[in-house]
Amino acid sequence: MHVVIIGNGITGATAALELRQLDADCRITMISGESKFHFSRPALMYIFMGHMSYQQTKPHPDSTWADNRIELLRDWITDIDTASKQLSLHKGGTLDYDRLLIATGARSNKFGWPGQDLQGVQGLYDLPDLKRLHDNVITAKQAVIVGGGLIGIELAEMLHSCGVPVTFLVRESSYWNNVLPEPESAMVSRLIRQAGFGLKLETGLKEIEDDGTGRVGAIITDKDERIECQLVGLTAGVSPNIQLVKETAIDTGRGILVDWSLRTNVADVFAAGDCAEIVTEGDGRNLLQQVWYTGKMQARIAARGLAGLEATYDPGIWYNSAKFLDLEYHTYGQVNLCIPAEQNLYWEHPDGLHSIRIVYLADRVIGINTMGVRFRHRLCEAWIAEQRPLEYVLEHLAEANFDPEFCRRFEAHAAAQFSKAVA
Ligand SMILES: Cc1cc2nc3c(=O)[nH]c(=O)nc-3n(C[C@H](O)[C@H](O)[C@H](O)COP(=O)(O)OP(=O)(O)OC[C@H]3O[C@@H](n4cnc5c(N)ncnc54)[C@H](O)[C@@H]3O)c2cc1C
Repeated sequence: MHVVIIGNGITGATAALELRQLDADCRITMISGESKFHFSRPALMYIFMGHMSYQQTKPHPDSTWADNRIELLRDWITDIDTASKQLSLHKGGTLDYDRLLIATGARSNKFGWPGQDLQGVQGLYDLPDLKRLHDNVITAKQAVIVGGGLIGIELAEMLHSCGVPVTFLVRESSYWNNVLPEPESAMVSRLIRQAGFGLKLETGLKEIEDDGTGRVGAIITDKDERIECQLVGLTAGVSPNIQLVKETAIDTGRGILVDWSLRTNVADVFAAGDCAEIVTEGDGRNLLQQVWYTGKMQARIAARGLAGLEATYDPGIWYNSAKFLDLEYHTYGQVNLCIPAEQNLYWEHPDGLHSIRIVYLADRVIGINTMGVRFRHRLCEAWIAEQRPLEYVLEHLAEANFDPEFCRRFEAHAAAQFSKAVA
């Protein structure tokens, strides 16, 4: 049996290694147009800033793939013929498969802005984007980043490291407040301004002006303000990369539609990771998960299907962590849902750089959000999964901390404030 995996990101790579554990005999081919080897996409910024080499961002030694008899192919797939089970390769020729996993990831959003394809306008998603950025910063005296969120702030930090001043255009009234509760979002907005970045809130992009040579020369905001710039970063979110399957028999919505076993509507074809959209029953919204660890979890389920075994994906308790400049953010469970039954306890240090939020219902805690404070993922996950009541969590709050030695601990202070608030 020949299993082909399109994509060598965290999803493709995990699925390939997992499948080898489940099936010692099948032939496995993993294909990527971007790079021969799997590397850590979240580490792109560290490559750019010189903190890590590309080689250091590979989670596995190069020998892993040969050791596990996983064939690597560096090419782009241009077509999938699901009737004949055949893939077309950009460099020419075809490749047959018996079972297929599509793990093609996501792409930076573009919303049809005039000038969005000019030189100097780019997203931050893959290695070619990194190369583009290297070229674009050479002539950039001023940059504009369109869209808030995690990737935008990474791009700002990268540009800052080259001495390029940055202005953010953010549609919301505060940075990332569609995800973060208001005080945490205000904390990030404050930090961005303190770092010297321009932050224009409730402001969108209207058009990007050509400087007369096919390069960006300025942008016009939806408030008709003109900002001169030689580089525009488009970081207004990502969408599933489904271009490859658009003209095939495989069903798509926003992503490639799959069931809870990560199977598409076509026999022997699976999809997982950033490109997949899990169809939920009833009125629930389909599930799109576009972070590192969910790619890994989905890959493990897809690998079982590729091995001919049954498995069902359990998204578990939501978790995400990231860094806004030097501020670490961790979130566990459901935060900022704003459902009527939900109650919140929020503690913030007077320095405005540390906070702890606990979200709870009458009988149990459903979410925790921390800024500048690290909590143990497994412990918070267990509290939420075991439906621990607020009193229990407050009593054990200090146990969650895993900040490095000599860091200040704030749990006792926060728990005392929380206990007073609910007394
Ligand atoms: C700058 C940046 C920072 C991030 N930081 C974080 C973070 O801190 N924490 C976090 O949880 N997540 C982070 N993410 C998101 C995370 O990286 C993604 O969720 C994850 O990489 C998705 O993995 P994937 O394997 O599904 O897809 P991808 O990593 O996108 O891999 C897709 C693969 O498919 C290949 N491919 C696509 N089309 C074709 C084709 N036609 N033919 C051949 N190959 C093809 C590509 O070459 C690539 O190898 C970040 C993302 C970016 C861009």
